[in-house]
Amino acid sequence: MNTTLNGKVALVTGASSGIGEATALALSAAGARVAAGGRRADRLKLLADQAPGELLPLELDVTDQESVRAAVAQTVERFGALDILVNNAGVMLNGPIAGADTTQWTRMVETNLLGSMYAVHAALPHLLERRGIVVQVSSTSGRTASAYSGVYAATKFGINAFSESLRQEVTAQGVRVVVVEPGFVATELTTHITDPTMRAAARELAESMRTLRPEDIAAAVLYAATQPEHVAVNELLIRPTDQT
Ligand code: NDP
Repeated sequence: MNTTLNGKVALVTGASSGIGEATALALSAAGARVAAGGRRADRLKLLADQAPGELLPLELDVTDQESVRAAVAQTVERFGALDILVNNAGVMLNGPIAGADTTQWTRMVETNLLGSMYAVHAALPHLLERRGIVVQVSSTSGRTASAYSGVYAATKFGINAFSESLRQEVTAQGVRVVVVEPGFVATELTTHITDPTMRAAARELAESMRTLRPEDIAAAVLYAATQPEHVAVNELLIRPTDQT
């Protein structure tokens, strides 16, 4: 077993599937004790059984500030500290702006943007104490907006902006901020899209290329999280080779 992260404690949001699940497993395999948050408790329990190290499943809804604060508190209570926050929970509900169901906009902003901000707010005192790391799972959509993903892109642009402010505020205190920007990764993300045309487009896009796997992004997170303290990997953009 890899021991690179022995003695470190990580909290991963959105760990019940996809990138978060793979990241929680990768951090665990590298020796970290991991708290894994998400709404689907059953999936997190299975993850705890699968993880090579100690993994604490946490019921967490990132849109609820109290729930986020409780998840951070439970992590610290169980493991004594928090060194790595992976802000990964997210939803992508693509569709045209005209005639959109704006409750989907609210859900994306509350989950992707506000949720990750709440987690930073709750975790920061602990991260400052340990000179820790914040990993922000953004997207290629945090760099380039395109038609039918305006609100999703706005949340990811927002994450990038917030992350740069955060970096400038805490880097002198030894806290590192890492923005990870994946291209197309094969996960459950697109299954939540309700617009049939958008869903079909996502399926076609997936079939047109060799997509990334969640483990590819987990490897990038692990790379950033295992650098020596004087090295801050601030941004990682990872696309499938086949994605233009
Ligand atoms: P998944 O749908 O597989 O994972 C999303 C995770 O977020 C799930 O674990 C889900 O858990 C969790 N989640 C959603 N809403 C909430 C909530 N309110 N509170 C807590 N957890 C929540 O998709 P991915 O793994 O692909 O997505 C992970 C991140 O990666 C997202 O931020 C996404 O935007 C980003 N990303 C994904 C890309 C891709 O191509 N797949 C590309 C670029 C970025 P649960 O439902 O149990 O709460």
